[in-house]
Amino acid sequence: MKQTLMKNINLLDKVCTIPGAPGFEQRIRQFIVEEVTPYVDEVKVDAMGSVHAIKKGTGDKKVMIAAHMDEIAFIVTHIDENGFIKFHTLGGFDPKTLTAQRVIIHGKKDVIGVMGTKPIHVMTSEERAKPPKSTDFFIDTGLPVKEVKKYLSVGDSITREREFIEMGTMVNSKSLDNRVSVFILLETLKKLAKKKTDATIYGVFTVQEEIGLRGAIAAASGVNPDFAINLDVTLAYDLPGAAPHEKCTGLGDGTAIKVLDGMTVCDYRMVNFMKSIAKKKKIKYQLEVLTAGGTDTAGMQRHANGGSIAGGISIPCRYLHQVIEMVDKRDVEASIDLLTACLPEITTYDWSFK
Ligand SMILES: [Zn+2]
Repeated sequence: MKQTLMKNINLLDKVCTIPGAPGFEQRIRQFIVEEVTPYVDEVKVDAMGSVHAIKKGTGDKKVMIAAHMDEIAFIVTHIDENGFIKFHTLGGFDPKTLTAQRVIIHGKKDVIGVMGTKPIHVMTSEERAKPPKSTDFFIDTGLPVKEVKKYLSVGDSITREREFIEMGTMVNSKSLDNRVSVFILLETLKKLAKKKTDATIYGVFTVQEEIGLRGAIAAASGVNPDFAINLDVTLAYDLPGAAPHEKCTGLGDGTAIKVLDGMTVCDYRMVNFMKSIAKKKKIKYQLEVLTAGGTDTAGMQRHANGGSIAGGISIPCRYLHQVIEMVDKRDVEASIDLLTACLPEITTYDWSFK
């Protein structure tokens, strides 16, 4: 492994660990504002809470880069007479991944809990054969009901608890979706801090992506960008049992230039522009055709006034929406390199339809 590989790994660890359920991004927002302020001309927080880090350009074109800062999470719906907590999911969970997990409930103070379910020993054979539903689970804090109710109430957000580790060239953590992109956007803005760009760059750390691109839609309608580049993780099914056509992307195969996801056909001009920059700068890339799921790309493409020329740089990720998400540091570096190289050249490309 080369020595320079992600010098700033501690920053990635921090951004993965800080909680930020959809609609409850207070802590991660505050961290991002403090981290990004020295490197841009202006930092604004919009009405929904997305952070806009603005680097002024010399020309009149605007490019919006989105990286959603929320993470899949839960919200307290009920606390029973014994202090057990029922919850609703905020984002697309695979219920089997909730088994045997620790979570943090963010009330008057942070309280740790575990996801409980019916023990296998007392399940009927039909119950054992059925996959679990998220409503089968409850959260057990181990505290007496009086204490639970002193600190926690209906409406509190809940996030997953898991530490960040390095594994060879890989990193493994909760919330790499999408904190790895928060990291990439921060690192790119730092790299561009002393460079002049023709386009004004709006680095937008969006809220509420996991529940339907809500923050990006509002932010894009305010910024009204000419160009939009989204940063998010994408499916890497480069694993045992996968057919070649199911792989989508592979870890270590480079940054992924988005061609399509479940809600967006990327502008072919943006795909071609990114490919041309990657080739010129010798950045390793793969193409992403993800036939399900949506990203903030759709919010920006459709909700700029009259639409924008939109595409995405995606980071291949294994075990998406589980607490053991995994990305390759080399792909993360390639993504930073590609975004950093694209932004200064975006206004010199020939964007005519041909
Ligand atoms: Zn995401």
